[in-house]
Amino acid sequence: MDERFTLQFDNTYTRLPRDFYTRVRPNPLRNTHLISFNSKAAEMIGLDCAITRDQSLLNALAGMELLPGMDPIATVYAGHQFGTFVPQLGDGRAILLGEARNHLGESWDLQLKGAGITPYSRDGDGRAVLRSTIREYLCSEAMHGLGVPTTRALCMFGSDEEVYRESIESGALLVRMAPSHVRFGSFEFFYYRGQHDAVQQLADYIIEHHYPELAQRTNKYTALLKTVIASTAELIAQWQAVGFAHGVMNTDNMSVLGLTIDYGPYGFMEAYDPGYICNHSDYYGRYAFARQPDIAKFNLSCLAQTLLPLIDRVPEAAAEQALALLSEFEPLFNKHYETLCRAKLGLQQSQLNDHTLYASLLTLLDQNNVDYTRFFRALNRFTSDKRGSNAELRDMFIDREAFDRWAKQYRRRLVAESSIDSQRKTYMDGINPKYVLRNYMAETAIRKASEDKDYSEIDRLLNLLHTPFAEHPDMEHYAGEPPDWAHQIEVSCSS
Ligand code: AMP
Ligand code: MG
Repeated sequence: MDERFTLQFDNTYTRLPRDFYTRVRPNPLRNTHLISFNSKAAEMIGLDCAITRDQSLLNALAGMELLPGMDPIATVYAGHQFGTFVPQLGDGRAILLGEARNHLGESWDLQLKGAGITPYSRDGDGRAVLRSTIREYLCSEAMHGLGVPTTRALCMFGSDEEVYRESIESGALLVRMAPSHVRFGSFEFFYYRGQHDAVQQLADYIIEHHYPELAQRTNKYTALLKTVIASTAELIAQWQAVGFAHGVMNTDNMSVLGLTIDYGPYGFMEAYDPGYICNHSDYYGRYAFARQPDIAKFNLSCLAQTLLPLIDRVPEAAAEQALALLSEFEPLFNKHYETLCRAKLGLQQSQLNDHTLYASLLTLLDQNNVDYTRFFRALNRFTSDKRGSNAELRDMFIDREAFDRWAKQYRRRLVAESSIDSQRKTYMDGINPKYVLRNYMAETAIRKASEDKDYSEIDRLLNLLHTPFAEHPDMEHYAGEPPDWAHQIEVSCSS
């Protein structure tokens, strides 16, 4: 039976002036085939799994044909890459097919990543390799499963096309979804060309479609900046709490909607290490784990710069207002982060020394090379009974006495709020995930896919990572210590 699905499109971005984008046609890969389809993301645009029997829809998602209403474009942006301003970047290998509207009237960009060159490809080939496509596919959904705002992944295709990186790899294509893919760098592109009217049009566009409640404010651009600062502070607090390092926090990889976007050499921290650098090409550790909040603030200041002419006609007044807003970042970040840390400890009340309790724990985890995710999941089973040894936790530390000293303080803190072990465990089981996407897990799926064309691990991981707080008895091994070979995996920008 041939099921038919129709998608409604409303391509609002194409109604912006012509220098915001270029109309392009996807260039399909050779012998494309569907590798994985994510029904959870599909639901959001009114599709279900039966879509995989609708050949024209599949062809459209693979970049082979266009459906009525699709109006493919590549958008332009700029960005600060590793601190240096690059005046023109853009969708060099991403093509926005159109904005699909769901029954609630929400619209979702359907973007093909790896669909061929665009006017913004520079020296690139417009392609994405299977390895990096699997990584992005899985991590977007892992983040969503953890409750962290992110772009989503609808499906991915493989192909027979050879793509040249450090070696020959096979080309793949990801269909990515987000309410919008507009980045800080989209604003920077026009600002640094002196096109302040275009900055205003872009800000108006974002406000109209994504933050309509700001339209009535005295100065909606100041309100927009404040909103982006707030959502970014919340996002980064969530990254820090789950131990996620993005790896390439350039301003072109920062979403104005506060979404995690552009998964390249990201990593979930294993042994706790504030200096963790997930990107093998980040020689100076600019994007090391603990620097992410500061980098986010730097990126926000780049965005603020572009909005100055809209904030106030008097430059000094504009700068003063922008700086005042930027100074809110740190307290906002701290507030969210502390709330998340308290939750990770299973604390219901807020007390003055909670920060110290948490910080001293992180120091211990760092000094003892303790796995961040495994420690917190095991902490869910902490017994506050004085006679209990908490051996499972204790044995994770080299310096067990140091753990005992910390545990004594923690116990005291739990008793102070009359915490009940069983209740706290139920609560913490929903806070501290059992599973995160460790590099070796993605690598396992990548090896099976590239060596044996066996894609089953991708679907298994997708399913696991959609509910990372739940028990998955058949996948228990992924909750254990990573295997030795995991330490040799190196991830770089090449994708
Ligand atoms: P990224 O590091 O993936 O965030 O990409 C930075 C910029 O380089 C963006 O403008 C991308 O579109 C572009 N880019 C990255 N890889 C390619 C490629 N293989 N072909 C064309 N453009 C690319
Ligand atoms: Mg990017």
